[in-house]
Amino acid sequence: MIKAVLFDMDGVLYDSMSGHVQAWYETMSAVGVQSDPDDFYLFEGRTGYSTIDILFNRNFGRDATEEEKKSIYARKTQRFVELNAQSKPMPGALEVLEKIRQAGLKRIIVTGSGQSALFDNLDAHFPGYFDKNLMVTAYDVKFGKPHPEPYLMGLKKANLHADEAIVVENAPLGVESAVAAGIFTIAVNTGPLPDQTLWDAGANALYLSMQVLAENIEKHIQ
Ligand code: MG
Repeated sequence: MIKAVLFDMDGVLYDSMSGHVQAWYETMSAVGVQSDPDDFYLFEGRTGYSTIDILFNRNFGRDATEEEKKSIYARKTQRFVELNAQSKPMPGALEVLEKIRQAGLKRIIVTGSGQSALFDNLDAHFPGYFDKNLMVTAYDVKFGKPHPEPYLMGLKKANLHADEAIVVENAPLGVESAVAAGIFTIAVNTGPLPDQTLWDAGANALYLSMQVLAENIEKHIQ
């Protein structure tokens, strides 16, 4: 029996991925690192530091130093805040949350994001839908997605077994993480990547938007 839904945040609850991609692309270009905007959709879910290392290795054949990682990630975070992308709730997200609340299921956040005002921001846009104690953020995890750690931690915080929950994810690495944690995973393809990348990551179901998921969520929570 399903008792909870674990939600990724960016690209699921917020229409924020274009802001992340722009902030990453501009920040990396400014330090002489070449990248393609689609890279950041493919890397979505990774920790910021591991994203920087992948691009450093591709460009310079080495990891970034701790100093470089710290300053690049700070700059990217600042640019993301300037772009104000965390203020656009994803169309359909509220409807999905309301149906889940009406069904009496818990709502849990599992995000790689580490913004300081993350809970307050969520509670402002989705008032009363989330519990501060039922969140996994960048501050909780060591490995990050695609490792199963973040989703396993989400289950643990809510005292659930994998078969008592479902996941809603938009990113290939997020889907991989949730599937590796043994949880039924619904992919919502809100970005520019082909659907096949989400199926290849192991998605159990796929919808093209949160609005379409809202129309179909009953099927997955009964
Ligand atoms: Mg996401």
